[in-house]
Amino acid sequence: MLGRTLSRITAGLVILAAAWSAAPADAQSSFADHTQMSWDGALTGIFLGLLVFSVVYNAAFYSVLRERFLVWQSLRALIYFALTVGLSPLDMGSALGTDSVARQVYICILFDLSIAVTGPFIRTYIEPGMLSARLYKMLAWTGPLIMLTTPAMLLQWPLYMALRNAVLLGTLGLMGFTLTQAWRRGSRTARFQAAAWTAVMAVYGISLFHDIVLGTPFPIFLFALFCALGLEVMLTALGIADRFLRLKRQHDEARATASALHVIAHKDPLTGLNNRRAIERTFADRRPYAIAIVDLDFFKAVNDHHGHDVGDRVIQAAGAALASGNAEVGRIGGEEFVLLLYGNAQEVQDQAERLRQRITRYAADRVPELIRPVTASVGLVLVGESSFGVAMKIADINLYTAKGAGRNRLVMPAPTVLVAARPQRAV
Ligand code: GH3
Ligand code: MG
Ligand code: MG
Repeated sequence: MLGRTLSRITAGLVILAAAWSAAPADAQSSFADHTQMSWDGALTGIFLGLLVFSVVYNAAFYSVLRERFLVWQSLRALIYFALTVGLSPLDMGSALGTDSVARQVYICILFDLSIAVTGPFIRTYIEPGMLSARLYKMLAWTGPLIMLTTPAMLLQWPLYMALRNAVLLGTLGLMGFTLTQAWRRGSRTARFQAAAWTAVMAVYGISLFHDIVLGTPFPIFLFALFCALGLEVMLTALGIADRFLRLKRQHDEARATASALHVIAHKDPLTGLNNRRAIERTFADRRPYAIAIVDLDFFKAVNDHHGHDVGDRVIQAAGAALASGNAEVGRIGGEEFVLLLYGNAQEVQDQAERLRQRITRYAADRVPELIRPVTASVGLVLVGESSFGVAMKIADINLYTAKGAGRNRLVMPAPTVLVAARPQRAV
């Protein structure tokens, strides 16, 4: 029944527009009086202004969050805009003259479009998980179904009209059911939209009462409908602002979590330096000329004498010393670091040696209670064409050579025979 009323209302709109356009100029004011300012210029202007505001407002939100419901709501506002212009006595050019059939077709199509885009709008607008999968799918079909019945408005074939009424009634019921289901599942957006649609529904309800009980058309139907639609646009804008803020918070939280996870996955918590995974990625992105593995000498003794906490501070000091140059630095073990060095053979060797010696100074400055100076050994290798893994293995062999040769020194490069001759150590 609602569907029939709705289509009668649509027909009413068309007739009203046609009657308005057909009326002689001097009769138009009395027609307007009769419809009680239906086409009051100021009211139309305010409504059109609201619609322009809605489009700009949604576009602004869309520039921050690419959410589809903002596009659908903008489209709804544009359709309302075109419909309002079509219903008003405004001149739309000779092809769409106020008394032309083309103008009536235009109005019919836009009226149906305004309902048709509601389905796609609401299914993207309601928060995910608040609608059943079946309902979500059904909402996508309402638009095409409605548009298939638009010609019924012009042809007025009884069977076709019955089908149209059924589709309209079904759509209306589906919208109500959608809001109820989402509301029950705790959707905030559904509450906002229920408020936004209440006035429009009330206008249709009163019109229905007039048609069925009083037997006369609702005299200020258009005036009331456009006030209700204005309210709908404003309340929807409010709902969108609320949804936008919640989405923005979710996005910000997700981004913060992602960057926290990235830090956890790529940074060493004690020194804040890159870990082995991050260094390997840097190696792939920006191939270094040489790799050096740095290992503090007799570090167990530091822990034994001063305790683990002091040991930690020494590791931090060593990390800071190594990070003070131009090399990419990573911590790859307890008191073991890796350097990716850039430049030529002489430069990389000088850089590594400078940084190695800086460890002793930094540790003395930052951990003054140490009874013995901290030294480090370095195994350095020119990368050439080798992979990260192979370069690391050879650098580790060179480090062993440095340790074996008395520590506190840098060794580079490894003769090829060393690869086979020395026992390999996991890195
Ligand atoms: P070498 O000169 O041969 O390298 O002797 P070393 O004593 O330094 O020997 P090694 O490199 O094998 O010892 C590493 C020690 O580092 C062992 C472990 O107790 C200590 N260690 C590993 N991770 C940490 C850490 O995070 N904090 C502290 N304080 N100590 C650590
Ligand atoms: Mg060591
Ligand atoms: Mg070690």
